[in-house]
Amino acid sequence: MAVMFDKDHFVDDRSLSVSVKNKGLNYGLGCIDGIRAFWNAGQEQLLLFRLDDHLKRFEQSGESLFIKIPYSIEELSYIIKKMLIINRVTQDVYIRPICFKDSNTLRPDLRDPFNHLAVYMDESEYKAEPSFKVGVSSWTRIGSNMIPPQAKTTAGYMNSGLAILEESLNGYDEAVFLTKEGNVSEGATENIFIVKGNEVFTPPVSDDILPGVTRNTVAEILAEELKLPLHEKSLARFQLYDADEIFLTGTAVGIKPVVEVDRRVIGQGKPGKVTLEIQHLYNRMVRGEMPDYLHYCTSVY
Ligand code: PMP
Repeated sequence: MAVMFDKDHFVDDRSLSVSVKNKGLNYGLGCIDGIRAFWNAGQEQLLLFRLDDHLKRFEQSGESLFIKIPYSIEELSYIIKKMLIINRVTQDVYIRPICFKDSNTLRPDLRDPFNHLAVYMDESEYKAEPSFKVGVSSWTRIGSNMIPPQAKTTAGYMNSGLAILEESLNGYDEAVFLTKEGNVSEGATENIFIVKGNEVFTPPVSDDILPGVTRNTVAEILAEELKLPLHEKSLARFQLYDADEIFLTGTAVGIKPVVEVDRRVIGQGKPGKVTLEIQHLYNRMVRGEMPDYLHYCTSVY
């Protein structure tokens, strides 16, 4: 049992009821974000990582769908902190704000004025494997003129769900999407990076990716800490097979090394040096252990 926020109130998450007629459920007319709070056991401190950036993206996702989130960023920050305090959280948790169209009329009309906001948290650990074996999906990444992949839409996750289903049936840990042009796009719920020689590459936003907060953090780590060049450019499928290292990035998985793509071994078949360095710095940063990056951490207590 946990307390969550639903339609202006903190409620027991078991007592929740929404109409099955709501348009979020029927048509996926909604947007979400995913934020993490990290528990620093040594300091007995709970920190939210890049809270403002996640909430800004949540707002922007909504705007692109004609969904006006009924709370400001400051109010959402307050709601999230209060929810964590009420639940007396002393471990890492994932936090999910969701806003969806909530009326009983039939038409999938984004001008519907009823925007239902809820925020809940999830304590389960997400895919703890130290590295992933991935497969390129036969499902194409949704294009910018279908459902905007740059927004975190609920409907867009049908695309991820189908790819995850296919890859898990095929015995992989995660799926990697190509764009309709055949360029590498991103993982089912992560961005992707490849390391080749002393350079790092990641697909640009125009290759139908969600502009990840973790992706942005990795760009900063590369520029400021590792002094390695990062190129945002379109990548061919072959460049995955040919990479020295590959890793996925996301709020839920953090920095996840990829050791196989389509049964081809990447590099030495184990997490690479650059990947592990980035992972180490990222894991310290999110727990408030890097003084230069404390501005990214919001203290709950
Ligand atoms: N792409 C997709 C499709 C995702 O669902 C996610 C997870 N939010 C990401 C990339 C990574 O984004 P972030 O680093 O902001 O979690």
